[in-house]
Amino acid sequence: MLIPRTENLLEVRDLKVHFPVRGGIMGQRDLGSIKAVDSVSFTVRRGETLGMVGESGCGKSTTGLAILRMVDITGGSIILDGQDITNLSSAELRPMRRQMQMVFQDPYGALNPRLRVLDIVGEPLVAHGMAPSRPQLRLRVAELLELVGLAGNMIERYAHEFSGGQRQRIGIARALAVNPNLVVCDEPVSALDVSIQAQIINLMEDLQKELGLTYLFIAHDLAVVRHISDRIIVMYLGKIVEIASRDDLYSDPKHPYTQALLSAIPVASPDAEAERQLNLLEGEVPSALNPPSGCHFNPRCPMAHDDCTAREPDLEQQGNDHFVACHLHD
Ligand code: SF4
Repeated sequence: MLIPRTENLLEVRDLKVHFPVRGGIMGQRDLGSIKAVDSVSFTVRRGETLGMVGESGCGKSTTGLAILRMVDITGGSIILDGQDITNLSSAELRPMRRQMQMVFQDPYGALNPRLRVLDIVGEPLVAHGMAPSRPQLRLRVAELLELVGLAGNMIERYAHEFSGGQRQRIGIARALAVNPNLVVCDEPVSALDVSIQAQIINLMEDLQKELGLTYLFIAHDLAVVRHISDRIIVMYLGKIVEIASRDDLYSDPKHPYTQALLSAIPVASPDAEAERQLNLLEGEVPSALNPPSGCHFNPRCPMAHDDCTAREPDLEQQGNDHFVACHLHD
């Protein structure tokens, strides 16, 4: 189905990714399903960076993989640049793959250490028929290395010869090789030293401006996405609990979970740090196989009341571009 071109590069509507769980001898017993992503809807606007944050197991990485059609989708739809890609076959999806690429979390695991940079970065160019000859391939890979701040003459080196930050630059070069519009960045700096994280985020910002890229930037804490994001989604146990512009989210967080995540970020000024009120999250994230009734956050929420176990809150608008799922704001 073709949809008219809009300001949104990506539309995710009511996305569900459920993983069946089986038990017993030979796995014959149906134990239900893990609702890794459950009825999630959002848009990514052309040229923006949409941050996506939540603790481990909240469904953020699965959402990223579903957008790229790298996991099976249980329900809902994904519309990329006006085209519904939810049910495209692998062959139909192939040309669309050029438009969306991924930068992975672990630059050590994502790149084969025994391959040369030429082969790592050049692989998508070859796969998509974008390197008509070997000399042209070498030229393009050298160009891409320079684009991400590495020397073009490093193309013959092996991935294991590079530091973590350099490997992530190679991962970014590989993602950009086919000129994508949308880049899904799955915790791209969390495996790196803090000093290197800022360099990689600055590089990604520069590349965004230069190439007009759109990012979905996944991270597990709000400190990392603050600098780079235009808007931010907060997820908890497979659901979106809050979406807001970056400034709104940090100055006026409305969901108790967002408030707890924000209170955990240290502040640079000693005075402000002394006044910072820690709102520590208690307990673990509950099992997604058997989530709490009503609002899934209720066992950990300091503001929970009777209504919170009885019914699930909807994501409702609470201001310009600000949406929250919490009964305190009904
Ligand atoms: Fe807390 Fe209730 Fe709001 Fe959930 S709905 S976040 S339990 S106050």
